[in-house]
Parts: sequence; structure tokens; C-alpha cells
Amino acid sequence: MGVASHTDMATPPIHRFGTEAQKQRYLVPAIAGRKIACLGITEPDAGSDVAAIRTRAVRAGDEWVIDGAKTYITNGHRADFIGFVCKTDPDAGHDGISLFLVDMHLPGVVREQRLEKLGMHASDTALLAFDGVRVPAGALLGEAGKGFYNIMWELQGERLIGAAGCVAAAQNAFDKTLLYATERHAFGRQIGRFQALRHKFAEMATEIEAARQLVYATAARFADGEYPVREISMAKLYAARMACAVCDECLQIHGGAGYMKEFGIERTWRDMRLNRIGAGTDEIMLDVIGRSYGL
Ligand SMILES: Cc1cc2nc3c(=O)[nH]c(=O)nc-3n(C[C@H](O)[C@H](O)[C@H](O)COP(=O)(O)OP(=O)(O)OC[C@H]3O[C@@H](n4cnc5c(N)ncnc54)[C@H](O)[C@@H]3O)c2cc1C
Repeated sequence: MGVASHTDMATPPIHRFGTEAQKQRYLVPAIAGRKIACLGITEPDAGSDVAAIRTRAVRAGDEWVIDGAKTYITNGHRADFIGFVCKTDPDAGHDGISLFLVDMHLPGVVREQRLEKLGMHASDTALLAFDGVRVPAGALLGEAGKGFYNIMWELQGERLIGAAGCVAAAQNAFDKTLLYATERHAFGRQIGRFQALRHKFAEMATEIEAARQLVYATAARFADGEYPVREISMAKLYAARMACAVCDECLQIHGGAGYMKEFGIERTWRDMRLNRIGAGTDEIMLDVIGRSYGL
């Protein structure tokens, strides 16, 4: 997830909305692996409701001064810079939000707690404070006041890549479990030959394939320049739920071994759970899909 946050969350907005100077300063070293990026949307009092963020950037001559807090920020402890979402005009609603690129070594940037979590332990997750952080005018990414719309664009790619990751993780868990079911014996036969388990494999394979087709068809449209928000939301919702359900069944098929660290299934089971929360919860996906029908 640490890598995905860098490649598919924090850097695409620079490619799409950045100036040439910003691309040279951030994108080139990020692609080369010399700088690590993170993306700061979520705050202690605002997650799903992005427009409710409180972090402020106030113009002061040639600079902006940033104050506020961000939480659950993947890579927050090791990042060199952050793509930062904040309010530049608190009275303008969705039109009062802007994006910035902020160097993480600037005075006033405080990397507070390293948060402990259920899974995804290879990535760090930070609570960050921004206390009078002064950035130059050139730190503004894209147009002032367009940050909400630009971050919604970013989230479409993030949701799609998350959905693809769910398909991959579910397939990997399936493959490992299929192997285990041919090696493990009970009551004188391979456990995979019990009809109850054979049907579990059949159901899982069907679900994985359905999610894969939805993700691939949607990704092809996105790559062709379409902006299929409804289908991206469907793919994210469906693939995340599918991956959680498949990993749960795979753990069950492993029996006690599934609960043990050495088989790796318990890790996938823990890691997958995030996909129903991060980048927009199941409930938010359902809301986006429902609203797309004018409801
Ligand atoms: C491990 C991890 C890594 C993360 N990495 C990042 C990161 O790098 N950058 C970043 O900015 N954020 C990151 N996040 C934050 C993540 O995107 C948010 O946790 C997520 O968007 C949900 O926001 P919230 O936690 O504030 O939940 P809340 O918005 O408080 O939601 C709580 C519950 O209310 C429900 N709810 C809220 N609104 C509605 C509604 N309108 N209708 C129905 N139900 C609703 C939600 O679905 C949820 O069940 C990360 C989170 C985790 C756990």
C-alpha cells in the first residue's frame, strides 16, 4: 500500500494538474524513486465528507500559510512531500478547496503518532500536524478553488487501482488455498474433494472472475478517456467486498493453519479489510452509485 499510495494516489495529480516546475521538482524524483510521496485528504474530523475539512491555507504576500491536521496518512512518516487538500476560501463550499504540494521537512510540519493498525503493516500511517507552515505561491497545485473536483478525479484512479488490487489479492489467496486443499487430507481424502469445499472454490472463482471483468471493462473505458464514475464505484464496491469474502473463505478452508502466520492467509485477510473503508467506504460507493440514478 505504501507503493500504491506513492504511485496511484499522490503523484497522478502532479502529472495531470502540475506545472513543468512542479513536475521537475516532485514527479521526476518520485518516478526515479528519489522522493517518496503521500496524499493528505483525511482529517481527524473529516473523512468521507471531504468538503468538511478544516485545514486552512491563507495567502500572505508571495506565500501561503497552512494550519491544520491530517490523519491516517499512508507514508506520512517517510514521505518527502505531501499532496495536500485544504480550504483556501471556507465560505465557498466545494469551490473553496485547493491542492498544494508541501515539503515535509518544512518548519511547522510535525509527524506525530505512527498509528497502529489491523493490517497493511508494511506501510506507515501517520497523524500529521501543520503549524503555520509557509509555502511559496508555486506550491499551489492546479487552480485555486478547484481542489475538490481535482481530488475527486484522483479518487477515481485510486478506486480503480484498489479494485484491481482486490482482484489480484483474492486470486492469490484462491491459488494458495487450492494448493493447500490438494495437499491437506482428512477422512482419507484431499479436503478439496469434499463437495462442500469444491462448491466453495466454484463460488469463489465465479466471484473473482465477475469482479475481474467489471474492473477490466471499467479500466479500459477509463484508459480510453471516459470518466465512468458509476462503474468505477461499482467496481471498487464489488471487488472490495468480494476480496474480503474470498479471503475469509480461504482462511476457513485452511482450518487452524489459516489462523497461523506462517501460511500468509491471515495476513491477506487482515490487509483486505481496509479496501471496504479506504478511498471511500462501501456506504459512500453505494451513495455515489445511487445518486448517479438521480436519487
Ligand atoms: C490504513 C488506512 C490508510 C489510509 N490512508 C489514507 C491516506 O493516505 N490519505 C488520506 O487522505 N486518507 C487515508 N485514509 C483515510 C480513509 O480514506 C478514510 O478512513 C475513509 O475515507 C473513511 O473516512 P473516516 O475514517 O473519517 O470515516 P467516517 O467518514 O467518519 O465514516 C464512519 C462511518 O460512517 C459512514 N458514513 C459516512 N458518511 C456516510 C453517508 N453519507 N452515508 C452513509 N454512511 C456514511 C461510513 O461509511 C463509515 O461506515 C486511510 C485510512 C486507513 C484506515
